[in-house]
Amino acid sequence: MIDAAGRLPLPWLAPVLAKAAAQRAHALLLHGPAGVGQFELALALAQGWLCEADPAPAGGVACGRCAGCQAMLARRHPDFLLLVPAALRTTLGAPPAGDDAGGDGESGARGKTKPSREIRVDEVREAIAWAQQTSARGRGKALVLHPATAMNAVAANALLKTLEEPPGRVRLILCAADPEALLPTIRSRCQRVALGLPPRAEALAWLGQQGVADAEVLLDAAGGQPLEARRLRDDGFDAARWLALPRAVAAGDAGVLAGCGVARAVDALARLCHDLLLRAAGAAPRYFPPAALPAVAASPAAAAALGAWARTLARVARHDEHPWNAPLLIEALVGEGRRCLNSRDRRDAATATLARR
Ligand SMILES: [Zn+2]
Repeated sequence: MIDAAGRLPLPWLAPVLAKAAAQRAHALLLHGPAGVGQFELALALAQGWLCEADPAPAGGVACGRCAGCQAMLARRHPDFLLLVPAALRTTLGAPPAGDDAGGDGESGARGKTKPSREIRVDEVREAIAWAQQTSARGRGKALVLHPATAMNAVAANALLKTLEEPPGRVRLILCAADPEALLPTIRSRCQRVALGLPPRAEALAWLGQQGVADAEVLLDAAGGQPLEARRLRDDGFDAARWLALPRAVAAGDAGVLAGCGVARAVDALARLCHDLLLRAAGAAPRYFPPAALPAVAASPAAAAALGAWARTLARVARHDEHPWNAPLLIEALVGEGRRCLNSRDRRDAATATLARR
């Protein structure tokens, strides 16, 4: 959101915020890579809609100082509602469900069960009921769904009518890293706003302010997404550890991933596997500098073994909530990577892959 000094937390959002704020549509779909600030953009946009400055700041951007902006900054605006899966609340810095005074509160977790990764249909219905009440501060209402892809089909269908004809002056913002994962009926009712990768220099400057050392390496590791680069750092990766990963995997040393969590370890291995597949195809790697990568044979067998490893990693990533024995799982995944990379084992891995067909 825009603070009292008129600053955005992520400076590269300014041009796209101005563009989005100029849209008249009652429902916007913000889409693009997950780690560049969709959520922050959605909040700043909603803040602009609810800003009470008179005259309004140029370009529909929030002033950061009026009573409405202050309520937004304190996460207590009665005309703002955030729908986010309970499992994401902490990551996004959202207060726990029922813990804020605004409106019916931000909807989310219920009870003591494991936090949900979905935006559930009852949460959508509560939001619709909230939307039908009169605006408390008289500037309309703003509803943000982040990510909108966390709605299952039932929840999405419950939202359709509100999306088509929002009551009163309600406006909606849906965020999605992959808009194609939304129902076409949802997509077609929204005006799209694309948020791309920020300019590299801006991303590096911001990472420097965040205290991320060797930001170039981590920004590349994150595919150019600065928020993801900061998360890598927060998960315990510095440049040296990231650059050591490929050769550690080639040596079968899973210790390089110790303590970073299953989801992060699987993600890091998937990025390595991706780059090795590029290498095997004679293309430039994306997440690692070429010098950090071990040699890969340019053979169909090597590519097949890497392809099998990629499928294993994707399967594990889909089930990363399972009560795995984390160290054993990571060791097994590193072991499969080592077999792809070790020249003697490579033939065995490829043979095994071919035998499975
Ligand atoms: Zn304001």
